Amino acid sequence: PGRPAPAPRLRPDDVFIAVKTTQKNHGPRLGLLLRTWISRARQQTFIFTDGDDPELQLQGGGHVINTNCSAVHTRQALCCKMSVEYDKFIESGRKWFCHVDDDNYVNPKGLLQLLATFSPSQDVYLGRPSLDHPIEAAERVQGGGTVTTVKFWFATGGAGFCLSRGLALKMSPWASLGSFMSTAERVRLPDDCTVGYIVEGLLGARLLPSSLFHSHLENLQRLPPDAVLRQVTLSYGGPDNPHNVVNVMGGFSLQQDPTRFKSVHCLLYPDTDWCPVHKQS
Ligand code: UDP
Ligand code: MN
Repeated sequence: PGRPAPAPRLRPDDVFIAVKTTQKNHGPRLGLLLRTWISRARQQTFIFTDGDDPELQLQGGGHVINTNCSAVHTRQALCCKMSVEYDKFIESGRKWFCHVDDDNYVNPKGLLQLLATFSPSQDVYLGRPSLDHPIEAAERVQGGGTVTTVKFWFATGGAGFCLSRGLALKMSPWASLGSFMSTAERVRLPDDCTVGYIVEGLLGARLLPSSLFHSHLENLQRLPPDAVLRQVTLSYGGPDNPHNVVNVMGGFSLQQDPTRFKSVHCLLYPDTDWCPVHKQS
């Protein structure tokens, strides 16, 4: 009882994966993603950046969108990108919107399997909660000077999150055509919190927590090695915290593959031409 009817089969290009990046990360971060998971999710993946880069455009197969948002790490600039991601998803007509950062590995098969257990016409907001309690924000209501308190859960953007088309369409009064930015100003919170505010605070829908999404805010080494390949997203600590990477064996040393994304990719897709060849027995 209570088990939903199985959804019609989900195809890879029913999913819209938005990767948020910025000009200075094109070289250091995007190359790795394009060679690894994006190469297995070409038709699903759209790269949202803030500057023209003909070389990236070529590698991205035309799926690179210059948002013309400014290339700074401010609430306004990040919300500007999220607002363009949202509009492009709505325009695409696809069933699922997923957002990831440019330091996430996406397991395309795992993502599809997870989404296939839901219906895109229902209200679905899936991701990893950033905090172990709902965030409390001061909500400035337009016109009047009144401030009220809202409490809501949100999925951390750095672990990736997904929204069903049904829910995304309901968000449109607060998210479409630039209104996402004024909504973010109402609570003065970053892009991922603003998504939670719209979903939970304004629409009364709920975040469905999933432990299959991972950001470098958690200790990634704590993921059991045999569970790594079943996760939907992964991340890495980067230069500030180089030891925070997933624990996975494979043909690449830590020096050759500091993020572990190449090792993960070769375990998931051993037929990749640059992966170490394993002898047939
Ligand atoms: N980012 C951006 N504009 C900036 C800085 C960062 O769009 O000016 C993006 C970056 O490409 C990444 C995300 O924001 O997808 C998070 O950035 P980062 O991983 O550097 O920082 P974190 O918040 O994870 O510490
Ligand atoms: Mn990051």
